[in-house]
Amino acid sequence: MKILVSSCLLGEDTRYDGLNSSVAMNPKFKFSQKELFMDIMCENEIFSICPEVAGGLGIPRNKAEITSHSKPFKVLDIEQNDVTINFLLGAKKALDICLENGIKVALFKSKSPSCGNNSIYDGTFSENLIEEKGLSARLLEENGIKVFNEFELEELKKFIKKNRSL
Ligand code: SF4
Repeated sequence: MKILVSSCLLGEDTRYDGLNSSVAMNPKFKFSQKELFMDIMCENEIFSICPEVAGGLGIPRNKAEITSHSKPFKVLDIEQNDVTINFLLGAKKALDICLENGIKVALFKSKSPSCGNNSIYDGTFSENLIEEKGLSARLLEENGIKVFNEFELEELKKFIKKNRSL
């Protein structure tokens, strides 16, 4: 199955702080989780994107959070610069990769204002999480593409098994 994966989960240094969120190398994941992640990566056709970099932002860059979670969306960085257009462009590029390649599922980084699929920071830069989605995860799901995060690998595995023909 074709899967779109957040670049930082694959170990690419694309995060705002210039680091990555590698599942395989992160000590907070058990060996069994790393093994499952690697099995999924090796047994499927992987496409990779960092929507924020694809949207024109650099590495490193200022931390950013969504301050308006419905249209018109608004994303501000910690210095109050408006980076909404970069986030929207990155989301569109992620969707384009899916549409051009027939990708029906993504494995995206949790809590990210771009990639988070079920909770993200609330826009106050105070580490408070709320039940909202990052702009890329939202756009993919609005277009019928299922999004899992790195703590939902078992669910992703079940989805792959059930939808092998996709
Ligand atoms: S935008 Fe997504 S892929 Fe890029 S660093 Fe943030 S979580 Fe990772």
